[in-house]
Amino acid sequence: MSQGFERLTVDVLSDGEFRLDGGAMFGMVPRERWEQFCPPDERHRIRLATHGLLVRGPGFVLVLEPGIGGTVDRDAFALTKEPSLEASLSGFGVAPKDVTHVLYTHLHFDHAGGGDRFPGARHLVQDLEWRTAQRPSVLHSRSYREEDRLPEARVTLLSGETEPLPGVRVRPTGGHSAGHQVVILEDAALFWGDLFPTRHHLSPARVMAYDLDPLVVAERKAGLLRESAERGWLNYLYHELDPRPFRLDADRGRYSIAD
Ligand SMILES: [Zn+2]
Repeated sequence: MSQGFERLTVDVLSDGEFRLDGGAMFGMVPRERWEQFCPPDERHRIRLATHGLLVRGPGFVLVLEPGIGGTVDRDAFALTKEPSLEASLSGFGVAPKDVTHVLYTHLHFDHAGGGDRFPGARHLVQDLEWRTAQRPSVLHSRSYREEDRLPEARVTLLSGETEPLPGVRVRPTGGHSAGHQVVILEDAALFWGDLFPTRHHLSPARVMAYDLDPLVVAERKAGLLRESAERGWLNYLYHELDPRPFRLDADRGRYSIAD
């Protein structure tokens, strides 16, 4: 369902499902707990979505988070590509060549690998994230894949909190990766990237083993939960299987999802 925010029209895209190790997705949460709400398969993996956004505004067609690249090991990640991002876009009457901009919360393969499907677009990347992806640490060399490198000539680097397109604001958070950022649409919606990947990660303490700095994730998530609840923003989660955005209810410093 389309959402209209002042100058923007926002739709949820999908590049299909994939699976990651449930223990890695839930960090310190014991399996006894997480397997109740995310039952793992026989290889201990849980289902995850790739719900990027199509954001249409004055003079631009933006894909926020273009999904997984075509060269990953489909079996290892149980990648479905159903629907593919191209099919998902076509459902909204948009062809890859119509996309003018692609925006990334960060450059890990499950968010950025699909960027090469938009050869005519400008790719908007936070400067620190770009530099981190050029020389990944030993911990993250599997997340920043050589095959997913964006063509430098088509990349526009963003510096800190800024509004690269009318109504589309990025805010660096770090935490999950050095240059991770969230995206605020008008003063109406928040796309969380990997700071808040699924509904089951609502608590600030629910961090992932993949997070570079879990304490930063917990603190930035707590701050953004407060801001989102106060401002009545709609929240969009990339890895959540349920594509519907939601608002937050606040009760004495604790948050819940208002369906
Ligand atoms: Zn991710």
